[in-house]
Amino acid sequence: MATGTHGLPSLWEIAKYWAGPGKGFCVDLSRPACAGCGCPVPNREGYPEFEDRWTDCGLHRGHLINACAGGPDVVENLVPLCPICNYNMPVFGQGELQAAVDWVLDGGWIQKAKITEQGLVLHGVLLIKFASQ
Ligand SMILES: [Zn+2]
Repeated sequence: MATGTHGLPSLWEIAKYWAGPGKGFCVDLSRPACAGCGCPVPNREGYPEFEDRWTDCGLHRGHLINACAGGPDVVENLVPLCPICNYNMPVFGQGELQAAVDWVLDGGWIQKAKITEQGLVLHGVLLIKFASQ
């Protein structure tokens, strides 16, 4: 198996795993995107090979079972996440794989964002300001 930095499987290996049948994630191999919030990585179409679109594209390899809880560095335990989803992912321990998968499937960081009168707020930071009337 090809490995990337830190001995982890490459984003491409991870994407191919989750794009397989019955995995539940919407992974389009031609279009690198966060498995949580769906945020696409822009300007990757210039690479003819899909693998090159995923290589060093800026997505993180997020652990489902947290590495601190002994989550292994294997494709089954890693998902492509944007930095915001990876940062906001709760720590899931042993036996919580399905809960972790559900967190990703439910939209990642979007679950923690709140809509206020000012706009979209995450951890007290105004991410998107709504236009005032
Ligand atoms: Zn995301």
